[in-house]
Amino acid sequence: MHDFLPIAYFENKFVPFAEANISIATHALHYGTGAFAGMRAIPDPNDSDRILLFRLDRHCQRLSQSAKFLQYDLPADKIKHILVEFIQQNKPQVSCYIRPFVYTSGLGIAPRLHKVEKNFFVYGLALGDYLSPDGVTCRFSSWYRQEDRSFPLRGKISAAYITSSLAKTEAVESGFDEAILMNSQGKVCEASGMNIFMIRRGELITPGLDQDVLEGITRDSILILAKDMGIPVVERAIDKSELLIADEVFLSGTAAKIAPVKRIENYELPSEKPITTQLQEKLVAITENRDRHYQDWVHAVAIGRSGD
Ligand code: PMP
Repeated sequence: MHDFLPIAYFENKFVPFAEANISIATHALHYGTGAFAGMRAIPDPNDSDRILLFRLDRHCQRLSQSAKFLQYDLPADKIKHILVEFIQQNKPQVSCYIRPFVYTSGLGIAPRLHKVEKNFFVYGLALGDYLSPDGVTCRFSSWYRQEDRSFPLRGKISAAYITSSLAKTEAVESGFDEAILMNSQGKVCEASGMNIFMIRRGELITPGLDQDVLEGITRDSILILAKDMGIPVVERAIDKSELLIADEVFLSGTAAKIAPVKRIENYELPSEKPITTQLQEKLVAITENRDRHYQDWVHAVAIGRSGD
């Protein structure tokens, strides 16, 4: 069972999670016309009165950008304000995943975005490691990532996750932990809910934003970190055969953080993963506010626990 945070934000107010329910006729449920964010909220290991949100502004911007595709004007500042209050209301005690969701909330029939009410809710749940930080096995999916010409890939649109779901289930049911999806050009794209990186000859390589990948916030953070650490970074198309002989491969995402890949189908990857490990340690230290250089990436919310 999931361990949900007690308070949700729903229809413009904070209510008990169990009371935040929608109708079976909700438009978004039928047409996949929703968009979401996924963020981690972690108790500050050094201050029990604070909850840490990693790159809050970026997450709010991406959700606001996704809402635009639904013809819903939801400013990033407004999302941020609600998320901070959401954390203050819930005072989470363990690492959580926060799910803000925008959607067509009207009850009408017909796939469209005009003349349909829109709304926004937020809920959260306790979440430990989504993938093992020690390494995962992957297969190439028989399902391909959508193309930007038929799907707004710069939004995190709920309908896209049918492809992720098909790919993840196919991978798990055939004995792997995760799926690697190709794009329509047959180039390596991303995993079911993570971006992908490989290391070859000391270079950190990831598919560019023109390769139909999601604009991952962890991806962006890793590219900045690697540059700062003096690791050469290249954004370009990756062939399947290159990935199979890479020195290191890892997946990145808010839920998964950095998950090293130890095997792709029948190709074992080297067990030594120096660059992956370095980035993994750095990213965890930053999200826990243990790294002074990246403090502006961490938004601390005071929850007033000591005054309870
Ligand atoms: N790709 C997909 C399809 C995803 O769902 C996610 C998770 N949001 C990512 C990549 C990674 O994005 P982020 O680092 O922003 O969590």
